[in-house]
Amino acid sequence: MSELSVQHIDKIYDNKVQAVFDFNMDVADGEFIVLVGPSGCGKSTTLRMIAGLEDISAGKLLLDGKDITATPAKDRDMAMVFQNYALYGHMTIYENMAFSLTMRKENPNVIHKKVLAAAEILGLTSQLNKKPSQLSGGQRQRVAMGRSIVRNPKVFLFDEPLSNLDAKLRGATRREILLLHKRLSATMLYVTHDQTEALTLADRIVCMSMGHVQQIGTPLELYDSPANLFVASFIGLPPMNFYDVKVQEGELLGEQFRVKLNEEEKSRLQGYEGKEITLGIRPEDVAPGDEANMTVFSNENLGMNTLVHGHLGGTKKATDKISAKMRGWCNYKAGDTVGISFHRKHFFDKETTNAIRKEA
Ligand code: ADP
Repeated sequence: MSELSVQHIDKIYDNKVQAVFDFNMDVADGEFIVLVGPSGCGKSTTLRMIAGLEDISAGKLLLDGKDITATPAKDRDMAMVFQNYALYGHMTIYENMAFSLTMRKENPNVIHKKVLAAAEILGLTSQLNKKPSQLSGGQRQRVAMGRSIVRNPKVFLFDEPLSNLDAKLRGATRREILLLHKRLSATMLYVTHDQTEALTLADRIVCMSMGHVQQIGTPLELYDSPANLFVASFIGLPPMNFYDVKVQEGELLGEQFRVKLNEEEKSRLQGYEGKEITLGIRPEDVAPGDEANMTVFSNENLGMNTLVHGHLGGTKKATDKISAKMRGWCNYKAGDTVGISFHRKHFFDKETTNAIRKEA
């Protein structure tokens, strides 16, 4: 069992910078949680408070019901995998992986068994006598994970573990981490600024901005029903398109388009008649159609899809930009006019920036 309860945690650094405001979340045993958000939003600070590497300014942290708010890092039964691997260069891979157990004066036979088992899981068996400098970046990252595995901690903490790897290796290592999570059924907290890592790894994502949690939910919930403009713009690649529109007599009036609302959309927008809202359209929800015109300025073939960038209508205003992810291989040329429709529409209140949802 390793359930974590983070209760109303704040972090105020000595220089009075408040990096985290009222972070509140229960993590179930075996859950994979990803904290995601732009640089400086407080992800690492939150992870480091959970690890015990930073003091908690206010709030409480419980592990399996036990208050560990003031427990030193070494006694928390958590293992952290860092971005820079933090391996000892003069030690072999075996010694690096055995290090924490050796320090704890574990029985050498037990250490040997644990290191071999972890090496087997991570495909490092043939590398154990080498030094870190003889390994590739991806292998070093696996050694860093191996060091955590041998400790059999209650909670694994990852701080941007893939950011030093190239794109191809990042994808492969991401899949390894996912397999590792399945195999160990361990509770894992993982920090990244990369929304793709968040979407592909997490059971639940915590999306943060400027020290505040914006939304906690499954990847599909954050993608399908973002709680506010921030989450809508952060999750999804390419990002969602946004337009100021007016709700009028069953239609949305934009500067460059006029679209009819269906019954479900009308009921979502009850109470907004005559008001301005923000309309959000994911690039993958733009398809050929007759609701608006797009003037193309670039066409990128990705294989299964084509990413088409352009402007709505004939203008070149920044607020009229649109990205569309069209199915199949398209061959639009700069200057072409393409008729488009918007399939799924997201609505946001202009004042609060919160998603406009149907009243329950
Ligand atoms: P992230 O991991 O999301 O990039 P951090 O948690 O590292 O963000 O930082 C959150 C905020 O706290 C930032 O404004 C950062 O400058 C500030 N911060 C981080 N560490 C310290 C520190 N030791 N002292 C003062 N401010 C800090």
